Amino acid sequence: MQRRTFLKSATLGLAGAAVASPAIAQSAPEIRWRLASSFPKSLDTIFGAAEIIAKRVEAATDGKFQIRVFAGGEIVPGLQVLDAVQQGTVECGHTASYYYVGKDPTFAFDTAIPFGLNARQQNAWMYHGGGLALMRELFKDYNIVQFPAGNTGAQMGGWFRKEIKTTEDLKGLKFRIGGFAGKVLTKLGVVPQQIAGGDIYPALEKGTIDAAEWVGPYDDEKLGFYKIAKNYYYPGWWEGGPQLSLYVNLAAWEALPKAYRAVLESACAEANIWMPAKYDAQNMPALRRLVAEGAQLRPFSKEIMEACYAAALALYDETAAANPRFKRVYEAWKPFRDDVNLWFRVAENTFDNFVLAKSAHKG
Ligand code: CA
Repeated sequence: MQRRTFLKSATLGLAGAAVASPAIAQSAPEIRWRLASSFPKSLDTIFGAAEIIAKRVEAATDGKFQIRVFAGGEIVPGLQVLDAVQQGTVECGHTASYYYVGKDPTFAFDTAIPFGLNARQQNAWMYHGGGLALMRELFKDYNIVQFPAGNTGAQMGGWFRKEIKTTEDLKGLKFRIGGFAGKVLTKLGVVPQQIAGGDIYPALEKGTIDAAEWVGPYDDEKLGFYKIAKNYYYPGWWEGGPQLSLYVNLAAWEALPKAYRAVLESACAEANIWMPAKYDAQNMPALRRLVAEGAQLRPFSKEIMEACYAAALALYDETAAANPRFKRVYEAWKPFRDDVNLWFRVAENTFDNFVLAKSAHKG
């Protein structure tokens, strides 16, 4: 009864403001978007980030702005999200930009490049190091504006049927690996395969590939790779802090009321925190279960790490020589990386090394 009385008086109160109401209605139109994710629904963290964005946008606009999230392959194949957003097939997409290095290798910087930044450093480069503006120049040519919208943190190196001890063991290895890292490994004789998340397990099971990397224990457990390939290597040196991005079609973005734009941008920033927090909280319990299932945890040898590092640097120089856009971004990125690494060596790394060593001794 009290509620009814309140509503009645609220309605009466509004009658006096009738002149202003059309403007309010105009600024809060009903908008329905479709979002194409590159990821399968079963991966509730990497796929879930898009749902976090959609839910926040809906709640903050009183249901006026709704984004329907589709899993990879539902309306758009997992690795074609960029094309779909560029062409306006969907208004937006959630994906990893390094899937599109075939169009331009510069896309890799929007996710991660091998031996590049960790998650904290990627955010620093994007938000305060000029990275976002630089990458938006590239995306503009593809009719897209993009937002950082998730990060997995440092990844694992993946699942290998056979042990990988020396660079000899890499020769001829058919390895599912995301992004620019495939080009680095090609220099060492690996045959890289780019396969969307939902399609990796069958390829590994059939023997089309010898090894596969995805993200880390929490996702990898769900995808079931441990049932086929027991050797679980680390670290994923190609993904120290890979970022996921929300792509928005430029025309759709420009047609969006300013208040909705602000909400969408904030929702992406929320997803950018939510995702690595969820992975960090869930990876260790998942790793324990994987080891109990027989996974053999193995670090990449120093020989392999050093050879891959040298191959990566050579590739960057070659790519910069051939692609002016890559060169422009790489030359802006490098001094930022050097500086942020120097800073991390002072306090962050000293703190981490000490505390992690103490924690290891506790068992
Ligand atoms: Ca990966």
